[in-house]
Amino acid sequence: MASLDEQLQETLRREEDLRKRIDERNAKRRIECASCDGAHPIRRLVAIQTHWYVEPHGCTGGDYWREGELQYICPETGVINRLLFNNDDVPWGERRDFANDPEAQFKRNYRRLFKEVRDSHGPLSEPWVNNFYVDRHRKEFGLVEKRR
Ligand SMILES: [Zn+2]
Repeated sequence: MASLDEQLQETLRREEDLRKRIDERNAKRRIECASCDGAHPIRRLVAIQTHWYVEPHGCTGGDYWREGELQYICPETGVINRLLFNNDDVPWGERRDFANDPEAQFKRNYRRLFKEVRDSHGPLSEPWVNNFYVDRHRKEFGLVEKRR
């Protein structure tokens, strides 16, 4: 019988292996494009993480940047697809909870799987389209599903 420490090491190794396999599976998941006829595997896409500026406020609050939406560049057309989520089904006060936030869940589990992630602190580049594919396929991506 292996010692407790050895069992823990083995469990951690197993967990790491499973996480790696989940990432490999997720990286192959496709997003149907809103600017071409294709469905692109996430691992082949260049993503853009947007940030927006928040002005100084009150007497103690300094200015800062907040993370905005995630986008990708269609490899066929070069058009930016904004990956948008519709949270209308969740009451206002509960939207910031990670458990109710499919966008935050998508970023945590998928953003690092894109081929590359660029940070943008500027205005939205043209041309762009809205893309709700991930939002409409939350279950497939393992995200919280809409109430109803
Ligand atoms: Zn495309």
